[in-house]
Amino acid sequence: MTTYTNFTVETDADGIALVTWDMPGKSMNVFTSEVLEELNAIIDQTVADSAIKGVVITSGKSSFSGGADLSMIKAMFTFYQDEKAKSPDTAAQKLFDLVGRMTGLFRKLETSGKPWVSAINGTCMGGALEMSLACHGRVASNAKSVKIALPEVKVGIFPGAGGTQRVARLADAQSALQMMTTGQSLTAARAKAMNLVHQVVEPDQLIPAAKQMIKDGLKPVAPWDEKGFKAPGGGIWTPAAAQLWPAAPAILRRETSGNYPGALAILKSVFEGLQVPFDTALKIEQRYFTEVLQTTEAFSMIRSLFISMQELGKGARRPAGIAKTEFKKVGVVGAGFMGASIAYVTAAAGIPVTLIDRDMDAANKGKSVSEGLVKDSVGKGRLTQDEGAALLARITPSAAYGDLTDATLVIEAVFEDRDVKKAVIEAVEAVLPEGAIFASNTSTLPISGLAENSKRPVDFIGVHFFSPVEKMMLTEVITGKQTGDKALAVALDYVAAIRKTPIVVNDTRGFFVNRCVFRYIHEAYDMLIEGVPPAMIENSAKMAGMPVGPLSLNDEVAIDLSQKILKATVADLGGTAVDPQHLALINKLVDDLDRRGRKNGKGFYDYPAKPAKKSLWPELKTFYPQKKPDEIDVAVLKQRFLVTIALEAARTMEEGIVTDPREADVGSILGFGFAPYTGGVLSCIDGMGVKAFVVLCETLATTYGAHFKPTALLNDMAAKGETFYGRFDPYAGAKVAA
Ligand code: NAD
Repeated sequence: MTTYTNFTVETDADGIALVTWDMPGKSMNVFTSEVLEELNAIIDQTVADSAIKGVVITSGKSSFSGGADLSMIKAMFTFYQDEKAKSPDTAAQKLFDLVGRMTGLFRKLETSGKPWVSAINGTCMGGALEMSLACHGRVASNAKSVKIALPEVKVGIFPGAGGTQRVARLADAQSALQMMTTGQSLTAARAKAMNLVHQVVEPDQLIPAAKQMIKDGLKPVAPWDEKGFKAPGGGIWTPAAAQLWPAAPAILRRETSGNYPGALAILKSVFEGLQVPFDTALKIEQRYFTEVLQTTEAFSMIRSLFISMQELGKGARRPAGIAKTEFKKVGVVGAGFMGASIAYVTAAAGIPVTLIDRDMDAANKGKSVSEGLVKDSVGKGRLTQDEGAALLARITPSAAYGDLTDATLVIEAVFEDRDVKKAVIEAVEAVLPEGAIFASNTSTLPISGLAENSKRPVDFIGVHFFSPVEKMMLTEVITGKQTGDKALAVALDYVAAIRKTPIVVNDTRGFFVNRCVFRYIHEAYDMLIEGVPPAMIENSAKMAGMPVGPLSLNDEVAIDLSQKILKATVADLGGTAVDPQHLALINKLVDDLDRRGRKNGKGFYDYPAKPAKKSLWPELKTFYPQKKPDEIDVAVLKQRFLVTIALEAARTMEEGIVTDPREADVGSILGFGFAPYTGGVLSCIDGMGVKAFVVLCETLATTYGAHFKPTALLNDMAAKGETFYGRFDPYAGAKVAA
């Protein structure tokens, strides 16, 4: 047996080398520079050893591999920037050479002359799938945990280590394009149907089946290296391809509005690559990859959607020196819409929950929500019957606060009413053990104000969920004036336990996410009032990269909730704090027309019975004189949406509500889907440059209102040539410590 740091190589009596990838100290295998070096050495070793007839590569972990370590790709950006500063002429060439490293290594494996089989025992993503595709045989286990994907497009890049070329030479072009441009996960069975794996077997048969392929005489030659090879369907110049290819860019544009350079590069790589010999095709892919790596989109998406998200998930903002919390029990008070789902996600994380409401009927009703969700998951094969039963057994409905005497954390999700919440805080604190934490899920009441009802405001915090709780990956953790470090640590440990991403937000009206969301919605009100046709409002928002149009979003959150918030703002801050035309519009919809949004089947949209789809309410156009579409510049509408939200985020940084740019960026993408290709609200500003952003704000302010005026902080940053990630460097502390 030969042992490397990340691999072991063990040759059996049949001369088959079993290469097991098992990186020390990591829960998942990833490609690092060292892994690439060792794999290179293993290829050399197996070629040189004449006793070795073939190689099976597998993983020693429960998953196969997550692919390239994106920190390695992030380092490529730094490398390129440094090289560009030194010598702009050769920087791109050097990046091109660096990018080709994995491509070259996998090609070396493919043409080594010995047959390689990849034994895919679990999740196999990105670079790991690209390596497997370079193997001559692929066997996958039929375990539920096996997910096969090329998800690079989701972080702004694309499969650049041969993936675009090999998938397009194995699967039909349409499935190949769909898989790569969406980054979707395939089951082992689907991967086999697409011709990406040769066999799917029981988990315990994986290695024997892989070895058997070699014993059966697997040829160490890729299909595309055989004479006369033709891609499935015959390649580009066939009648079927003539149907697909002219439509493909249009379909991609419909899905992405041209915002994702990585997605377009997949189309170009495949289309051009299929017309040339394989090695030339790899070069084409390498060129596009080099090009995409130079885009702001790729840089920003990798930073926010991978690096920052991971860092926040691992507790980047957790105070040091406090032991990790063991959750013996979590109490949820209020078993309504939110509380019932909070109980579900908590129990799904293996934590016992006591779910309290005013009486047993209400508490039981709350638990029945989990019963429905479990039934659904069992039906879809995501949970076994036993797992589902165990999850439900962890939820105990109750009407007695006395059941909370052993809780580690209690989350309150009762009516949004100060007096009701006050009574609940007092009742819970009367029984809650010393050191346990009280969290409120309020969406509009400041945490410091609620904490005035608490005898121990140090242990009082906000944990703000988003609906639907089971699906939304973000949770805002709100610190009040007196919230202590222990409460913050427990809240962050809880969010980590339920596998969501936290952002830490200092107390303010609307916290972070809702402040930004309402800017988005209010800009749409302005547009309606100006006479922009509603369909143009919705479409331009989507073209800007927002997943849901602002009017549709307002219907989801409820128009009467908007009314409630506007009225509360007037009550607290005076009439000038809201736009009277906004209030008039919303009052008309809610009070005169009873149009409250999706929940009562009528809002900005009409909601006919299924299967008919919702459509914009035609009467909306009669509210204001309509402009003609050709009088409206869609590019400006797009800018207005992104700028008004980004400006609000900049205000939250200026006010010290959010203190870490990673949290603003990740929070904006996970919380309301802010144009992911920008990398989030602050990356959007940094990406275009603060100076350019300030100029754009000034221009918009002259026509569309003072809310576009750049703030003092932005003006200062523009004058100094700063960025958010520079001025509010999230790693500054670490650098000082180092
Ligand atoms: P809801 O009306 O669906 O549920 C509230 C529940 O609290 C009801 O079951 C009610 O019986 C119970 N309750 C009321 N008084 C109680 C008491 N004294 N003791 C025990 N239970 C009591 O409301 P919801 O939409 O789930 O909202 C709950 C909280 O979550 C609010 O603070 C709201 O602002 C916040 N929130 C809501 C959303 C959302 O999308 N609805 C999102 C984030 C946060």
